[in-house]
Amino acid sequence: MSLPKKSRVELYRRVYEKFQAPVSRFDCGRHCAPHNGGQPVCCDTSNAVPIVDKWEWQLLKSRSDLWRLFKPKSAIDRQIVSDMHSECRAVECKGAAHCERDNRSMACRAFPFFPYVTRERTILGLAGFWYFEDRCWVLSNLGIVTPQFVTECLESYEAIFAEDTEEFDIHHKLSADMRGVFTKRNRIIPVIGRDGGYYAVEPRSHRLRPASLAEFGQHGPYKDEPVATAAE
Ligand code: SF4
Ligand code: SF4
Repeated sequence: MSLPKKSRVELYRRVYEKFQAPVSRFDCGRHCAPHNGGQPVCCDTSNAVPIVDKWEWQLLKSRSDLWRLFKPKSAIDRQIVSDMHSECRAVECKGAAHCERDNRSMACRAFPFFPYVTRERTILGLAGFWYFEDRCWVLSNLGIVTPQFVTECLESYEAIFAEDTEEFDIHHKLSADMRGVFTKRNRIIPVIGRDGGYYAVEPRSHRLRPASLAEFGQHGPYKDEPVATAAE
């Protein structure tokens, strides 16, 4: 569904006002940055290139000079840009040292999570971008994610989906891709539910059941670290 430009820009303005909660009560970047040359993984375009829709880009440009269009530097970068929907833009900021909290993109605010959507098109909660498990410390420590973040992230996505059904379809497909990958690996999909509780989507049956944090495991360089607590 295509809304007039002004409505789409206003939509993101409302979302930015509503979605302020950080993922945890402390700076998770200090855990991943030492493994990434001192830069938080999600603030470094060699790891993650923020993608915004063109209306969100209009809003960001009108608020700050923090952002510019992303210039591909490698074949992988060029692929990222060529795979994008025509209404999307790849962008990059001036870097973590210059971050402006109020002018973070939706991609920054939600990282490393997205709304997990069942085959029947129901949003169950938040799942993590699994291909960042080897770099993003949060994905090895889901216990530090605050309930406020979960609520604001889901409500923000639902506000976007209500006005942009294509965006919902993208997340429906992303969730299906995750089920495919995790079924092949015979792994449960960790989900943080709307109630802040922990759930697992079983491989193959895709049945949802309550889970314990210990079942989610740790990954990459965080494998042997003690699990962090919310109060860290
Ligand atoms: S969300 Fe993950 S990748 Fe981003 S700063 Fe926190 S630990 Fe690092
Ligand atoms: S705006 Fe802030 S959170 Fe977003 S990529 Fe830049 S430094 Fe990271």
